[in-house]
Amino acid sequence: MNDLNANLQNVNARIARACQQAGRARTEVSLLAVSKGHSAASVRALRAAGQLAFGENYVQEARAKQAELADPALEWHFIGPIQSNKTAEIARHFDWAQSVDREIILQRLSRQRPEELGALNVCLQVNIDREERKAGAAPESIPELARRAVALPGLRLRGLMAIPKPAAQNHDPAHSFRALKALFERLRVAGFALDTLSMGMSADLEQAIMEGSTMVRIGTDLFGRRD
Ligand SMILES: *Cc1c(COP(=O)(O)O)cnc(C)c1O
Repeated sequence: MNDLNANLQNVNARIARACQQAGRARTEVSLLAVSKGHSAASVRALRAAGQLAFGENYVQEARAKQAELADPALEWHFIGPIQSNKTAEIARHFDWAQSVDREIILQRLSRQRPEELGALNVCLQVNIDREERKAGAAPESIPELARRAVALPGLRLRGLMAIPKPAAQNHDPAHSFRALKALFERLRVAGFALDTLSMGMSADLEQAIMEGSTMVRIGTDLFGRRD
């Protein structure tokens, strides 16, 4: 548990340093702790160290942890692929859905969101590098999806999310981050009131912050490796 505390301090220090290097305020970037594959006890330990926002990829796994923790201070973000038959649970049990890439999912989430919870925060997931078999909408389809999202009463469109192609000899993730940031700014110029650019993971959070990320999603460097 002490390890988790140290990991959290390390990651927060990396974020602070990256913000400084990018000439940005530390408050511009938030940390989402990605707890998939890790226990409720690990979430509890990070929460005790001050972390409140957690990301999960699988509904069943997340629901089990939520039930075990029963902590209303926690903020839950759904970040995994969304099947139609999972939207009701996501709409009821999450504060954010960051991985929305189809209109049917937008419609279902809006319709199934309980009114007393207020609007569900939504990010559109972009397949920024146009990879085959990768989740996310094509960049050119995002403006239309954004128009659909803002018309739905159960949703509050917050921004964009992407998982870039892994770094390789011929691919620098900074290019993907820059492309996502450009799309985000185009939407803002078009009048969408967006405040969230969710990009950057354990391996590349510094680059993501340099390119304008407002939320980094960190699993491995907080919780250790997943089995
Ligand atoms: C697992 C996951 C992460 C965290 O990745 P790490 O490399 O472990 O930091 C971030 N975002 C999404 C969408 C994920 O599925």
